[in-house]
Amino acid sequence: MTFELTSFEDVKKLIDLEKVNQDKIVDGRLNGIDITRLKMCIHQSLDDLASINNATASTFSIGTSYEGREMKAIKISKSGETRPAIWIDANIHAREWITGAVCNYIIDQLLNSNETEIQSWLDEYDFYILPIANPDGYEFTHTTDRFWRKSRSENGSPVGCIGTDLNRNFDFHWLENGGASSNPCSNTFAGNSPFSDSEAANMRDFLTSISSRLVFYLSLHSSGQYILFPTGFDDTPIPQYNTYMSIGNLAAEAHGIRHGTNFTAGSVYNLMYTATGSSMDWTWNALKANLTFTYELRDKGQFGHLLPPDQIYPSATEFMDGLKVIMTELSREYLK
Ligand SMILES: [Zn+2]
Repeated sequence: MTFELTSFEDVKKLIDLEKVNQDKIVDGRLNGIDITRLKMCIHQSLDDLASINNATASTFSIGTSYEGREMKAIKISKSGETRPAIWIDANIHAREWITGAVCNYIIDQLLNSNETEIQSWLDEYDFYILPIANPDGYEFTHTTDRFWRKSRSENGSPVGCIGTDLNRNFDFHWLENGGASSNPCSNTFAGNSPFSDSEAANMRDFLTSISSRLVFYLSLHSSGQYILFPTGFDDTPIPQYNTYMSIGNLAAEAHGIRHGTNFTAGSVYNLMYTATGSSMDWTWNALKANLTFTYELRDKGQFGHLLPPDQIYPSATEFMDGLKVIMTELSREYLK
């Protein structure tokens, strides 16, 4: 089924369709986990997974959100947290629901896949995965506004606007160069200062705590089908530009094998727009992680944030195809 989104009515129809489909498939399970559950039960499924796999997996909180929700993450480690660390987050932008689902699929594969290649990652790395980096905003997209993007903090707006764009709230060229907004009503409001919002500060603190081991930072967004690397500040190529470009292109090729989905690799600035204060740029600059990528997952605008549930599984499997390429490159000597 295809929709031309030409009116508000069409968007409303699509939201209704999405709800119906979700209700239908809520009990569908894959490899022991229901990857299609997109609602707050993601937290419950994290606990379920950790309890089934308690030798390697455990959940933990990196802190609480503005409204007091836990920022629940899962740690998958066979080493007692001594190996090089990989961090994955999703849903820092509340409305980008596909990212949490793909994140859940990655967790499922790490814990349940029979593939030797995927299992070998756990012999080399410790994984830390945060499926919902913006729990207040995420809840708000389910209760009130499907298209909410920001956090839900009071931001000093004289006219009552709410929320910070958490992916503009990190301290890398914060609010410089037009890469974010100082207007509290804007969807790209950078916050009142770097790390003014607890969600961004909690991520900063946890990432800093593992920074001596952090080799790969991955942040999942949607949509647009882009494989993005630093920076969003300006067009000056980072020293590792050629490496990132070549890994990004290899991954893009792999992402397309299964369904022909076309991903494009490049810097945020070159491929999208000026964006300052992102979690990726801060991690790249402040923590010197060996590799940092931000993904914009499906699609290229047809459904946008209302990606139908029947695209979740293809999105997840094609993502894993490219992730394998990145993981192979990560293990090469030149990146160590
Ligand atoms: Zn986003």
